Amino acid sequence: MAVPRNRHSNARKNTKRAHHAKTPRNLGRCSNCAATVLPHHVCQACGMYAKKSVMEPQS
Ligand SMILES: [Zn+2]
Repeated sequence: MAVPRNRHSNARKNTKRAHHAKTPRNLGRCSNCAATVLPHHVCQACGMYAKKSVMEPQS
């Protein structure tokens, strides 16, 4: 494993970590029941995907 030769300053460490923020998940709305759904996922509330019923809704 590589061993660091020089210590990085706090400013250098913090500048590097400035890019590590999480972004919120991209959520959409079900076209049938308006529940929030992940993109390219079946709606868990009504079982619809692409305006077709593909499964029974989860209880
Ligand atoms: Zn739905």
